[in-house]
Amino acid sequence: MLVLANAAASAFHARPSVAPHVQRAVSPHCVASVPTAASYLAEVPMGPPDAILGIVQSFKDCPAENKVNLAIGAYRDDGGTPVVLPSVREAEKRLLTRDVNKEYAPITGDPEYVKKALSFAYGDDNEALTSGKIVGVQTLSGTGACRVAGEFYSRFLPKGTVVYVSDPTWGNHIPIMQLSGLEVRKYRYLNRATNGLDLEGYLADIAAAPKGSVFLIHACAHNPTGVDPTPDEWGRISAAVLENGHHVLMDCAYQGFASGDAEFDATAIRRFVADGHSMLLAQSFAKNFGLYGERVGTLSVVTASAEESARVLSQLKLIIRPMYSSPPIHGAHIVREVLSDDELRSQYYEECKGMADRILEMRALLKAKLEEAGSTHNWEHVTSQIGMFAFTGMTGEMCDELRDKYNIFLTRDGRVSIAGINSGNVDYIAEAIHSVTDGKEIGA
Ligand code: PMP
Repeated sequence: MLVLANAAASAFHARPSVAPHVQRAVSPHCVASVPTAASYLAEVPMGPPDAILGIVQSFKDCPAENKVNLAIGAYRDDGGTPVVLPSVREAEKRLLTRDVNKEYAPITGDPEYVKKALSFAYGDDNEALTSGKIVGVQTLSGTGACRVAGEFYSRFLPKGTVVYVSDPTWGNHIPIMQLSGLEVRKYRYLNRATNGLDLEGYLADIAAAPKGSVFLIHACAHNPTGVDPTPDEWGRISAAVLENGHHVLMDCAYQGFASGDAEFDATAIRRFVADGHSMLLAQSFAKNFGLYGERVGTLSVVTASAEESARVLSQLKLIIRPMYSSPPIHGAHIVREVLSDDELRSQYYEECKGMADRILEMRALLKAKLEEAGSTHNWEHVTSQIGMFAFTGMTGEMCDELRDKYNIFLTRDGRVSIAGINSGNVDYIAEAIHSVTDGKEIGA
């Protein structure tokens, strides 16, 4: 297992010679050396661009007409256009007719939204939920949920508790946890030879981790690999985590978007609750409802009793209030409206399935087109992986070549956002991938 340097924290704190200025500023005899705004800002170093959003910017800056964005994790229709689901639009229309005011939400968000969101994840008649043993708050989408979770762990788990993230994981997990003051290490996840799950490595790392560690687990549609455990494998992972006395932070950013069935995609969440884990759940409605910019999510905690839930909730409020006071209301009202109305809810399920189906279709088409282009590589993983991304196994150099020669933009780990593929560009993409991978090894 790898110990990660606290890169995010050290980049942030790398401020050469700021301290001496600050010291001079507090001396009453040195008024002339009090730093001006300009001298203080002169010390601010240029930070590196975000690994994903930096590529999105380069894509926007690229003047080529045939450019393709395979970097961003946001759904597009077959014309390459961002989508607002009709059920979401309908909910917005209804909200407009209802004269909803713009007052603040409570610190913990819209209570009715939180109730509906938790039922969506845990199941309407989940015993833990109905008996008050799960307590939740509205958060700033999935990122905000992870950040509040990190802060909660940092306050209430023993000092030195380690958070284990999958190797690889969504890049933001690492700085989120480190900036919460937690040490982050990686557990084995991807078998790079097969582009499938390294279950034995995963189980061995669970067993080797110090008792009481936190395992950050993707509930479905693992980002960036698209590799999810089978039900049987989930059972073994759950048993190993329990046996070794660890905590679980389940991160669910794609419920319904993975298989097209929100109930099926909640399998791991519901199983882990039934198995009796010490568990927190970060939930996002960015992808499955297409509410990216509305920042709608929840953080929930599985507790031993309703009384414990009340204490946990009081502490979550103390974390949130000085961080951002209270969450935004519009997106939460949309989700609440859709999930509260049987007709709108079924319409939503259909539309969500439509997005998942298009992704599945594009996976199959990309694989077929790669073969048609003459590629002799085994692209089986493109269709066996699930969710928004395919972890192709292409090297950083191959990704650079795709960008430089073909104006195809993707992250240098070889992750392809299937959402960026459509029937109009799949031939071009397949031929380009074939040309940069032909005769070379992939999957390392
Ligand atoms: N977790 C994972 C695994 C993700 O892929 C994402 C989105 N890329 C998030 C959390 C959070 O996204 P958001 O804050 O937009 O909900």
